[in-house]
Amino acid sequence: MRVSILTVGDELLAGDTVNTNAAWLGERLTARGATVERVTTVPDRVDDIAEVVREHADRYDAVVVTGGLGPTHDDVTMDGVAAAFDRGLETDERALAWLTEEGGYSADDLAAGTADLPAGSNPLHNDVGVAPGCALENVYVLPGVPAEMKAMFDAVADRFEGTVRHVESVVVDEPESALVERFDRLRERFGVKVGSYPGETVRVKLESEDAEAVRAAAAWLRDNADAVSS
Ligand code: ATP
Ligand code: MG
Repeated sequence: MRVSILTVGDELLAGDTVNTNAAWLGERLTARGATVERVTTVPDRVDDIAEVVREHADRYDAVVVTGGLGPTHDDVTMDGVAAAFDRGLETDERALAWLTEEGGYSADDLAAGTADLPAGSNPLHNDVGVAPGCALENVYVLPGVPAEMKAMFDAVADRFEGTVRHVESVVVDEPESALVERFDRLRERFGVKVGSYPGETVRVKLESEDAEAVRAAAAWLRDNADAVSS
């Protein structure tokens, strides 16, 4: 399953907020066997959101959107998602009922528009905060606040699946350029995908659907490189 992540927020683009939601979602989706193929960040602007949602809902199996759900003037994600499907927003009675019955809010406390969702979508309840998310076809709209986003994702996590890939990392204390031939060897001999992530040392990530191939490749690399014990 190929997934696109769309994070919405001016503060992400300005570097005021680190985009931890994208990293968390990438990790969780990958752990479920889904493949994250895009992470896009756009400003809080209806047209930009609509453009990416329209294109990616078509191109990927699912799109996960986070951020910009609240009722303040700069939260326009629901408008953007609705526009992507040529729809408007409607007050969702199920979301409203959940907020008043389960969420513990009185209707008067809720800011105007809190339960407005794209027409035809299904609400996703917010167990941690207020603003509901929604699922519309293959698009899942989650809040920006990380704790709210995580709880809501967990409620729909089983809709994301694929073949889980096995991973092992080996940390090597050699220059990356010296490892090129051994990377070729790993690919040819064990059929694994090799990722190389240099810092002070090089973290070599070995990946395959075949657990035994990953184990054997990691053992070979430890024997044939200056591996740092961990
Ligand atoms: P709420 O449902 O509470 O109104 P929201 O969905 O409207 O939240 P935002 O207003 O976009 O979300 O952001 C709420 C908070 O979450 C802000 O502090 C913001 O910086 C943070 N946040 C938003 N997006 C991300 C992200 N991708 N990674 C980490 N933090 C984020
Ligand atoms: Mg925002």
